[in-house]
Amino acid sequence: MSTLNQNEKEIILESIRNIPDFPKPGIIFKDISTLLNNPKAFKLLMDHLEERYRSYNLDYIAGIDARGFIFGSILADRLGIGFVPVRKKGKLPYTTVAEKYSLEYGFDEVEIHIDAFGENGCCTTGEKSKVLLIDDLIATGGTAKAAESLIDKVGADCVECCFILELAFLKGREGFKSDVYSVLTI
Ligand code: AMP
Repeated sequence: MSTLNQNEKEIILESIRNIPDFPKPGIIFKDISTLLNNPKAFKLLMDHLEERYRSYNLDYIAGIDARGFIFGSILADRLGIGFVPVRKKGKLPYTTVAEKYSLEYGFDEVEIHIDAFGENGCCTTGEKSKVLLIDDLIATGGTAKAAESLIDKVGADCVECCFILELAFLKGREGFKSDVYSVLTI
């Protein structure tokens, strides 16, 4: 199941609820809580991610605050590797590295612990740690590109950015340094 067939993709896509005009008018919010409480769809998704990434020889999964924590930490546990949270500003207690990114109006900022992927981003062999970045959804791509840049700043190697759902019309996948993989695209 390293590739999903159309029927399997539909099971996962149909488990995600659309909430019109949330959090503001004109936005269709993709509610993954209905995927999480659908055991068949959730297992199909996690089995697929596990199979895809088992051969990547990753050292860490980095998940974006907050829904990326759910998929990222389960996948990390399945692969027997560490999980690293990329958090919104002000939440991490130890020394952090930060990256700002623009929103429609103003800025937001994400942070990561400086030693999250080992000293200077290297694992015990002295090689750069191989990291998969994961989030539930890519819209403009601003959040994930800031997170990708943080992984680079602390010295690790972001090998791929993975999203459960991509809103392709926003062209968010353009401009990443690493490969981009989306399980579902609309
Ligand atoms: P962006 O930086 O524009 O790619 O936005 C991605 C982040 O915002 C992700 O963490 C998503 O969870 C969240 N997000 C953006 N648009 C939506 C949407 N339509 N439905 C659900 N979450 C969204």
